Amino acid sequence: MSRKSVSPPDNKPLSAPQKALRKLGLDRDIDLALHLPLRYEDETRIVRLTDTREGDMAQIEATVVSCEVAYKPRRQLLVVVDDGSDTCTLRFFSFYPSQQKALAVGNRLRLRGEVKGGFMGRTMMHPSFSIAGGELPNALTPVYPTSAGLPQVYLRKAVHSGLVHAARHGAFVETIPPEHMPRSAMSAGAKAWSLEQSLHFLHHPTPDVSLAQLEDRTHPAWQRLKAEELLAQQLSQLQSKRARDELRAPALTLKKGGLHKQLLGVLPFGLTGAQRRVGEEIAQDLMRQVPMHRLLQGDVGSGKTVVAALAAAVAMDSGWQCALMAPTEILAEQHFRKLIGWLEPLLAPLGKRVAWLTGSQKKKERTEMLGLIASGEAALVVGTHAVIQEQVQFKNLALAIIDEQHRFGVAQRLALREKMHHIAEVEASLSASPSHDLQEPHMLMMSATPIPRTLAMSYYADLDVSTLDELPPGRTPVVTRVVSDARRDELIERIRHQLEEGRQVYWVCPLIEESEALDLSNATATHALLIEALNPPGMTPVLVGLLHSRMPPAEKKAVMAQFESGAMGVLVSTTVIEVGVDVPNASLMVIEHAERFGLSQLHQLRGRVGRGAAASACVLMYSTGESGRVSETARERLRAMAETADGFEIARRDLEIRGPGEFLGARQSGAALLRFADLAEDGELLQWARELAPLMLDKYPELAERHVSRWLGGKSDFLKA
Ligand code: ADP
Ligand code: MG
Repeated sequence: MSRKSVSPPDNKPLSAPQKALRKLGLDRDIDLALHLPLRYEDETRIVRLTDTREGDMAQIEATVVSCEVAYKPRRQLLVVVDDGSDTCTLRFFSFYPSQQKALAVGNRLRLRGEVKGGFMGRTMMHPSFSIAGGELPNALTPVYPTSAGLPQVYLRKAVHSGLVHAARHGAFVETIPPEHMPRSAMSAGAKAWSLEQSLHFLHHPTPDVSLAQLEDRTHPAWQRLKAEELLAQQLSQLQSKRARDELRAPALTLKKGGLHKQLLGVLPFGLTGAQRRVGEEIAQDLMRQVPMHRLLQGDVGSGKTVVAALAAAVAMDSGWQCALMAPTEILAEQHFRKLIGWLEPLLAPLGKRVAWLTGSQKKKERTEMLGLIASGEAALVVGTHAVIQEQVQFKNLALAIIDEQHRFGVAQRLALREKMHHIAEVEASLSASPSHDLQEPHMLMMSATPIPRTLAMSYYADLDVSTLDELPPGRTPVVTRVVSDARRDELIERIRHQLEEGRQVYWVCPLIEESEALDLSNATATHALLIEALNPPGMTPVLVGLLHSRMPPAEKKAVMAQFESGAMGVLVSTTVIEVGVDVPNASLMVIEHAERFGLSQLHQLRGRVGRGAAASACVLMYSTGESGRVSETARERLRAMAETADGFEIARRDLEIRGPGEFLGARQSGAALLRFADLAEDGELLQWARELAPLMLDKYPELAERHVSRWLGGKSDFLKA
C-alpha cells in the first residue's frame, strides 16, 4: 500500500499540518481514508435570510451595504449585508486589512455561519466568506476531528487524496461474499453497498441523506463499515482458536484422594454452587489435550481465588507446575499468603513448595526462588510481573493463572505462555520423556470487571467464559449513600461511632496520574485531618494510617499489617487498595471525590466492605468543585452505585453510560478496540459476523485471509491498535 501521502520528498522538514497529521496517526492513505467525519455541513444550497431561524447554520449570498470599524464595546468590524430578502450584520473581532478589503461595500459574497438574533437583528459572528457565484458542491461538506495546527481545509484535501489513492491501489477490494452481505448494509432496493462506495459516501454524502441515519450510524454505508470490522475481529479470533486447537497441552488428571480433594477438605468453608460449577468447567478443560483459554469472571468477593487454587491443585497433583500472576504486589502477596496457608501443608509431604517472586525482592531470596522454580521443587509460583521475566525458567509449567487479567497487556499474557515454549525447546534438545513434549500451558484468566455474559461470549470467539454469579453466603449487603463533601463533619462523627463499635474504616482518595502531586497532598491532608478529628484530648488514641502507591513496599506492608491486625482504626489510602485487601472487620468505606471514579472502580472499592457479618456502608462523597456542579454522567454513575450492588448490573450500566468502545477498550480487557462498531448497538451485526466467520474460513479461506490481514494484519493493517 502506498505510504507516501504525508511524507514529503527526502530531507524536507515536515510542515506544521503534516506534523499534526502524524500526531493524529494519519500517516498512510488508508488511515486518512478511515478518518471519518464528526459531522457535516450543508454547503450545497443557498438560502434566503428570511427563511432562516436563530441557531441555523446557513449559507447565503448577499451584497455588502456597509462596512465599518466600531470601537464599542470593543474593536470590531461591523459589516451589513443584504440578500434581497433581509439584512444581516456580520461581526468580526479579529480581521486583517486584506479581509476588510474583501468585505468592501458593493461586493457580493457567499457567506456561511450561524444565524443569531439580538438587538442588532440577524447577525453572524465570524462567518466564512468567499466571492459569490462559485459552483455549489453536490455533496455535504465533511467536518473532521482535528487538532491544533491542522486546518479543516487542509485535512479535507488530505483525506480525500488518501481515499482516492487507497482506492486506486486496491485497498477496498471486496472480501465479503455478496450472498452473505448483512441486510442492514443494503439499500432499500436490496442492493449491497460496496466498501469503496460506503467510504466515499461517508466522506461526501449526498444532500438528500437522512442526517439522523448518519449520526446514529444506521445508514447502510455505516453498517457496511461496521460489518467489515466485526467480521475481521471474529475471523481473527476464530483463527487463533482453531490454531490453538491444533496445539497440545498436558492433559491433566483428577486423582482420587489427590491434592484437589485434600484442598476441599482443609478449606474453612464449603464451595458455593457457582464455584462448584465453574470448578467443574475448568477441570474438564484441564483434562483435555488442547490448551485451555478461559476467562473466569466473577464479582468482587465471589471467591475466584479458591477456584484458582483448586485448578492449581489439579495441575500440581499430576506433577506439573503452576504460576499465578497478579498486577500489584499487595494483591500478589495476599494470594501468596492465602495459598501458602491452604496448600503448603498439603505440598510438604510431597517435597514441594510455593514460591514467591516480585521485583522488590532481595537478590538472595530471589536466587533461591529461581532455583526452586527451575528444579521443579516449587510446584506453585505466585508473584507479580516478575514471574514473566527472562531469568525465570520453569521445569514444567502446565497452568498459568492471571488475576485481574485486564490489567495486563496482551504481550505480558503471551510472555507467560511462552514460558512453556521455552520448556518445549529445552526438553526437545534433551530428548525428554514423551509426556512432556508440549507446546502450550493451560491459561486461566480472572477478572472482577465483569462484561455482560452474552456480550463476552459473542465478542470473545477465542475465549471460553466461566461466570461466578453467586456470592458466598453470610455477606451483608452494603448500604450505599451519596453525599456532598459539605457533610464531612457528620461523616467524621459516623466514623467515630464505627470505631467505638470496634469496627474499622477505609477512606479512599483518588489518585490520577495527571494530577498526582496534587492528589497525593490531598490524601496527606485528609490523613492529617482525620488524625486530629479522631483524637480529641483525653480519649484513647485512634491509629490512622496512610497508604499510597509511592510508598516503598516495606512501608506499605507495615501499614497493611497494622490494618489487618485491627490495631489501626482508619486507613486513608489512594486506590492501591482497589484490589486484594481482605479485612472482614472493616465496615465503612468512604470514597472521596467519588465523581472522579469509574463505575467498576467504585464497585471494586465498595467490595472491600461487607465481608464480615456486621452491617456495612459505603459513602460516596462528591465534591462540586469550582463549577458548583457535578456532571450529569458522574451523577448517573453515583446514582447507579446507590441503586444496585450487582456487579453485572453495574457493568451493564457502565456499558450504557460509557459505551462499549471504552468499556471493552484495551485498558479494560486487552481486546482490540472497536473503532466503528458499537457492541451495545450492533448486536445483530455481531451475530452476523459470528455466523459468517466459520463459514468463510471453511468455504472462502482466501477471502477470509485477505480480510483479516487487511484489517488486522500487522503493519499494513487498517485498524492499527
Ligand atoms: P474475589 O473473587 O474477589 O477474588 P476472593 O477469592 O478474594 O474473591 O474471596 C473473597 C473472600 O471470600 C475470601 O475471604 C474468601 O476466603 C472467601 N470465600 C471464598 N469462597 C467462599 C465460600 N464458598 N464460602 C465462604 N467464604 C468464601
Ligand atoms: Mg481476587
